[in-house]
Amino acid sequence: MNPMRKQIAAANWKMNLTHPEMVQLMDQLLDNAPSLNAEQEVVLAVPFLYLEAVRQRLQGMSGYRVAAQNCHHKTSGAFTGEVSAPMLASMGIPDCVIGHSERREYQAESDALLAQKVDRCLEAGIRPIFCCGEALSVRETGTQNAFVAEQIRAGLFHLSPEALSGIVIAYEPIWAIGTGKTASSAQAQEMHEAIRGVLAEQYGAHVAGQIPILYGGSVKGSNAAELFGGADVDGGLVGGASLNATEFRQIIAALK
Ligand code: PEP
Repeated sequence: MNPMRKQIAAANWKMNLTHPEMVQLMDQLLDNAPSLNAEQEVVLAVPFLYLEAVRQRLQGMSGYRVAAQNCHHKTSGAFTGEVSAPMLASMGIPDCVIGHSERREYQAESDALLAQKVDRCLEAGIRPIFCCGEALSVRETGTQNAFVAEQIRAGLFHLSPEALSGIVIAYEPIWAIGTGKTASSAQAQEMHEAIRGVLAEQYGAHVAGQIPILYGGSVKGSNAAELFGGADVDGGLVGGASLNATEFRQIIAALK
């Protein structure tokens, strides 16, 4: 493990929790909150409505960050209902998830569109958490490495080495998201190593070694330590289990 690389437990709440439920979860999570070492981070990707409240709750907590789950690919304009990266930045939001498979599928977000969102984030000083991952049909043909490599190339390879150094990648096999079906730790490590190899080919081993690569797909308190054990697995992006404070605290405790 590169000692400079952050180890990250990222929660993706998706479109869950009413306001009182959100307050309760934050209370449970932050009551005697797990303390982090200098290489560890906890990121909470929450609905837009709750960004400010969560940001305030995390103020002064070293290593704890709030994230948006999406932003628009333009900086401003006639896009009713949308939120831009400069808006997020102006509200003190440091991170934004980009290209989650649910958005790729339900909002038909293409690699080209996601490349623009990455740019808008970086221009605004926001760290993108760039998601990639293959569907079951792709894995069944054994072409998952090539598929994910293409997502990485199309979404990120227009970036300079300096810009790329500022991002986080989340590998989330679609067949493991919300299904209870987890990739084995060997499958996760194999793909993470392959992703780092793709980055190293383009940007060199030094830059590739700095990028945190998170695993996502049915991570739970009970399997997090094993999944995070892979040398190239730098933590997780967690959906369902992040809505339960006890589970998510176990996942934080499993960070290297
Ligand atoms: C996710 O939504 O990013 C995710 C990995 O979900 P889950 O942990 O529920 O599989």
